[in-house]
Amino acid sequence: MRKAIFLDRDGTINVDVDYLHECDKLKFLEGAVEALALLKKKGYLLIVITNQSGVGRGYFPMKDVEKVNEHMNRLLKEQKAGIDGFYCCPHVEEDCCDCRKPQTGLYLQAVQEHDINLKESYMVGDKVTDILAAEKLHCGYALVLSGHEIDEKDLRQYQGHVFENLLAFAKTV
Ligand SMILES: [Mg+2]
Ligand SMILES: [Zn+2]
Repeated sequence: MRKAIFLDRDGTINVDVDYLHECDKLKFLEGAVEALALLKKKGYLLIVITNQSGVGRGYFPMKDVEKVNEHMNRLLKEQKAGIDGFYCCPHVEEDCCDCRKPQTGLYLQAVQEHDINLKESYMVGDKVTDILAAEKLHCGYALVLSGHEIDEKDLRQYQGHVFENLLAFAKTV
């Protein structure tokens, strides 16, 4: 079994530009590539779990999401920071699917496909919804401040699990 970091994509790895679906709009956050390489060096599988409701809303096709992911991974692999698996929910909240975070569907699919040991693994994201599944699945978690604004109440509730960015988190595990 392997340990893994389940990563949100937008706001955690790359700058969140709202419905990113064009390769030339991809911009890595400060320290993110270094963080991924460091986590990989420490033996973690890197698994991206991302909600892409822009697909469900008809803004762009799934093919565009895949293109961005492939482009991202080409750049990351050059830095020994390649992602081991991308998992994407294309739905909108009203679809009530079991794969849209905070649902656990995509995490469980990744666990099965990569033989992941949840007890040694972490979820990281810039929204509370990225890490809510962690309690259900009994793994660690971290909130990063590099994307979406996190309100005071949540900052207090998740005290000790809040990091400036992915690199600050990566140094602690
Ligand atoms: Mg995000
Ligand atoms: Zn879904």
